[in-house]
Amino acid sequence: MINISSIKTHMFCPRSLYIQTWNEQEKQNDFQLAIEIKKLKIDVQDLIQKNMRKIKKEMGITEIENELSENIDSYIKSNTNAIVSMNLELQPEQINEIIDNTYFNIKLTALKIKQAMNMYHKDAFAITDMFFPNCMYSYLLKDQQLELIGICDKIEIIDGKYYPVILKSSNPPLKGVWDQDAIELVAHAILLEEEFETEVFVGFVYYEKIDERRPVVMDVNLRKALFEVIREVKEITENKKLPNVKINPKKCCKCQYENYCMH
Ligand code: SF4
Repeated sequence: MINISSIKTHMFCPRSLYIQTWNEQEKQNDFQLAIEIKKLKIDVQDLIQKNMRKIKKEMGITEIENELSENIDSYIKSNTNAIVSMNLELQPEQINEIIDNTYFNIKLTALKIKQAMNMYHKDAFAITDMFFPNCMYSYLLKDQQLELIGICDKIEIIDGKYYPVILKSSNPPLKGVWDQDAIELVAHAILLEEEFETEVFVGFVYYEKIDERRPVVMDVNLRKALFEVIREVKEITENKKLPNVKINPKKCCKCQYENYCMH
């Protein structure tokens, strides 16, 4: 069974997938840490959504921001402490990044809510669905035939149609989405189609740094590219094939396996 997280690692660098696969402990810890961070971000979104229900149309921007921020700080602190106590190597910079991104998003959300309340002359409670559509979070998708498994960050259901959404804390490209994000998204889309016997035409990558979701069309070329990546991943994870890679110093200096890598 191939995990979509292996596809993500492969898209960053096939060599890093090789090192990760054949170093079991590191793989487990990194994977667990990524899951815990994702869970925390999703819970924070949930809390913001609950806080939004208390916002009245007479409130000013600062008041709205304060309402949206209620209990957020303490929630992040207690959860990051819990992650650290699991012996997962959560770095202080990662915690700061989570906090900074959360408050930046709260500011943007406050502005959007204020605009929407003015436009519709309604309290925030009545327009929550515009900001948080009916959805499922952290949904495990799996297909035995495809031998593929992954947890989709969010699945939105609008008018009976399913839309996979993945959350990214990385910087976005100037326009569109990164190739690796599109490949990850189409993997979720294909699993989603199997699970719900539906067709997925579009998915979204949400870049939290700019609070923007960008659409990706699930076309034939993208689907073909995914199957090519799956083939390469299998060569590494099942046949232990050491991949040849083009060295990119900018990428290598950010890579956690730089010290192990014999490039
Ligand atoms: S150090 Fe560079 S070549 Fe080696 S695994 Fe990392 S990104 Fe790939």
